[in-house]
Amino acid sequence: MSTDRPSSAPPSSLPVASKTDCVHAGESRSRPSHALTAGIAQTATYTFDDSSDLERYMRGEDIDPEREEYGRYGNPTVREVERRLAALEGTDDAVLFSSGMAAVTTAILALTKAGDHVVLFRDCYRRTRQFVAGTLSRFAVTSSLVSPGDLGELSRTIQSNTKLVISESPTNPYLSCIDLSALSSVVKAHRGVKSIIDATFATPVNCRPATFGIDLVVHSATKYLAGHNDVLAGVVAGPQHLVSLVRDLRHVLGAVCDPHAAFLIARGVKTLGLRIERQNATALAVARALEGHSAVARVFYPGLESHPSHQIAVAQMAGFGGVVSFVVAGGREAASKVVDRCKLARIAPSLGGVETLIEQPAIMSYSELSGEELARVGIDPALIRLSVGIEETADVVESVLAAL
Ligand code: PLP
Repeated sequence: MSTDRPSSAPPSSLPVASKTDCVHAGESRSRPSHALTAGIAQTATYTFDDSSDLERYMRGEDIDPEREEYGRYGNPTVREVERRLAALEGTDDAVLFSSGMAAVTTAILALTKAGDHVVLFRDCYRRTRQFVAGTLSRFAVTSSLVSPGDLGELSRTIQSNTKLVISESPTNPYLSCIDLSALSSVVKAHRGVKSIIDATFATPVNCRPATFGIDLVVHSATKYLAGHNDVLAGVVAGPQHLVSLVRDLRHVLGAVCDPHAAFLIARGVKTLGLRIERQNATALAVARALEGHSAVARVFYPGLESHPSHQIAVAQMAGFGGVVSFVVAGGREAASKVVDRCKLARIAPSLGGVETLIEQPAIMSYSELSGEELARVGIDPALIRLSVGIEETADVVESVLAAL
């Protein structure tokens, strides 16, 4: 099975994070006891020698600018991961959270107040939409949904009180990519509006939204960044003045990343470049094998020329990611049979880890929706989302083909 890129391969000059960056960028070269790797500062609080030591610290005059006071305000293990993720995203700073949703919700809350307006794309992650429409609305922040990728509609929807435009790229589960430069231009044409891109599916190895002028980049670090399906975390990266606002609110809301989870992310990030290289190649191979298969009605993968946002993906991504979505011919039951027969993949509602995972959104993430409601939110009952792991490409392709 060929795993080379399509003829319209992305330009190699895209400023994305390299494998060397994944191992070294933002990392401290000097550690206690000359250790090579980061330790885990598993502590809830920090101590002061005496009252004058404490008072000096409180006046901001401590000789150690990194000194911490209490675990909710900071932790050296967490701080190092934040620096490394900022370096990978090419941003001033980053702030780590206990989950992707903690990152998304804290970022949105930090940048909005009563009377403001937020714009989301209709294909945004479901819980993000739910938070904005169901929770933020209780605090008098209104919102509008615009059609996926429609920047003309976005421009018409932005109001004088709009503060935020939120999108994903690629989106879940149809992997649509939004033109990040064009989105950034639309947003910057309106004073006081900021853009947030959830780049969980891309990772900085495939795309760095900040280089296209996006203000804040968000990830569910639970997925590719940590990469081993063993930790929940989230991150917000961006310019110092915005990240500081988000960090200050994290101090209050308290959704901090546990130091041990931070250590696991730090270790996972070392292999991010290697993992993504394999996952890009395997997903493309799977997508090509599925396209044209008689048991498959449609394949969604931005690396395929047939994907509606292929040209956008080629222009802004160095690889197309590790998730392939496809609709099985024969409907909902036929799709469930394919899921059950795909022996290599485990059935689970996550993505981005070393293990190949498979799910049928109609009976997993959207299981409470009726057929009509599924149609309204655009989820085909026979849709399968496959997140390829780092197994042998041929094994993953064979396993999916055998299931069909
Ligand atoms: N953003 C995207 C695109 C996601 O797919 C998810 C989870 O699936 C989240 C955010 C939320 O992340 P977490 O599950 O780490 O809270």
